[in-house]
Amino acid sequence: MDKSQLYRALPNIDDILRDPQVGKTIDQCSRVSVLDAARTELEILRQKIGAGAITEPPAFTDIVRSVTTRAHLASQRSLHRIINATGIIIHTNLGRSLLAREAIEAVVEVAGSYSTLEYDVESAARGSRHTHVESLLCELTGAEAALVVNNNAAAVMMVIACFAKDKEAIVSRGELVEIGGSFRVPDVMAQSGAHMVEIGTTNKTHLWDFENAITPNTGLIMRVHTSNYRVVGFTEAPSLPQMVELGTKHGIPVMEDQGSGVLIDLQAYGLPYEPTVQESVASGVTVVTCSGDKLLGGPQAGIIVGKAEAIARLKKHPLARALRIDKMTLAALEATLRLYRDPEKAVRSIPTLAALTMSESASKERAEALATQLFGVDKRIQTTLVKDIARAGGGSLPLADVPSWTVGVAIEGMSESELEQALRLQSEIPIVSRIKDGVVLFDPRTLVADDVEVIVNTMRLLVQ
Ligand SMILES: *Cc1c(COP(=O)(O)O)cnc(C)c1O
Repeated sequence: MDKSQLYRALPNIDDILRDPQVGKTIDQCSRVSVLDAARTELEILRQKIGAGAITEPPAFTDIVRSVTTRAHLASQRSLHRIINATGIIIHTNLGRSLLAREAIEAVVEVAGSYSTLEYDVESAARGSRHTHVESLLCELTGAEAALVVNNNAAAVMMVIACFAKDKEAIVSRGELVEIGGSFRVPDVMAQSGAHMVEIGTTNKTHLWDFENAITPNTGLIMRVHTSNYRVVGFTEAPSLPQMVELGTKHGIPVMEDQGSGVLIDLQAYGLPYEPTVQESVASGVTVVTCSGDKLLGGPQAGIIVGKAEAIARLKKHPLARALRIDKMTLAALEATLRLYRDPEKAVRSIPTLAALTMSESASKERAEALATQLFGVDKRIQTTLVKDIARAGGGSLPLADVPSWTVGVAIEGMSESELEQALRLQSEIPIVSRIKDGVVLFDPRTLVADDVEVIVNTMRLLVQ
């Protein structure tokens, strides 16, 4: 067939829109998105004809299938569910911590109803949004007062701005941390209007380094937890209680950016020592800041706990309004914190903690179950059990190698990178896997809900 015949053989837009399958898609998506999809599809076909890439007229049913797929894809929300089969638990790009069921229910409730956000039911008077989590945070951490803002970066910025704007803030060179590119301690200090005074060296900073740096214009002594790296070997840093003693002697507030928000000693679960928020508070530090969505396992939030006087000053700071937390986050945070009243329950029901503390044998059972399901799908799918390492992620517990059993998968005639790509792009819910030593791995540790079913269905689709 020559090109002009091929062009004429293409259906027109109205033919496509009259198709019952397309009609259904119009109901499900919208007329605009289907019309757009049909125009795009016809344009692509015309280009292919022009380039001589097509010599036979395409089947009408194939055109309809492309149009409906295209329309469905275009009408998908941009922010949507995906499957994390990487074994990286607090995966920042994939949304960090998953919420516990209780927290999800709380979010849904306040999202669709009016709430007590800033309303006191008893007195019918205006209340404060801080009340919903403040007493819980005090109870759990031993602090006198608490305040919650948008995220930990905001918390750190606000504390520095409040105590050290146009003043000096002393920090050890060994703690000038960068977290994921956009959070760098020196930059945050500059933004907050503080003059950074770096002391000590990369590996060693002494208490006298701090003492020598104190001037009449010192506003803050800072300590930053090196959440995402460790300096090991010939190292030294003063303890937090020593720094607090120094601060008290000179009347200077001491802040600690604790980072992870861990509230439970994870050593009991075979994980490396990570200082808890309670320990920081007990050292007598003026304020401690941490994230809500790292090891705490709640929503994105910045938690500030500490001395009543300092928190009262922070609450009055203009940034408190600019950085304030929204009601859905507060609902999720309150519900998450309530679970910590029973630490064992917290470990079981907070997904981040449950995934992190899952035993090696439980992980092996899950991997075996997944491998068995995949084995039954098609003989062209090969599966192997691979013992590997899962990671806390999110810049937390950098030294924790969590032994984890994974399922290595391969499909005959498909390279590992083709398979990895197909799992992302052809699955109804994109599956993010990991390639190691030339094999695609699924780590069931980070799988939730019906993820396994989706994986099995997608593998079935890929061998068809
Ligand atoms: C993660 C982290 C931050 C940034 O917290 P976000 O909640 O991501 O804003 C700041 N400081 C430390 C030490 C951290 O670990």
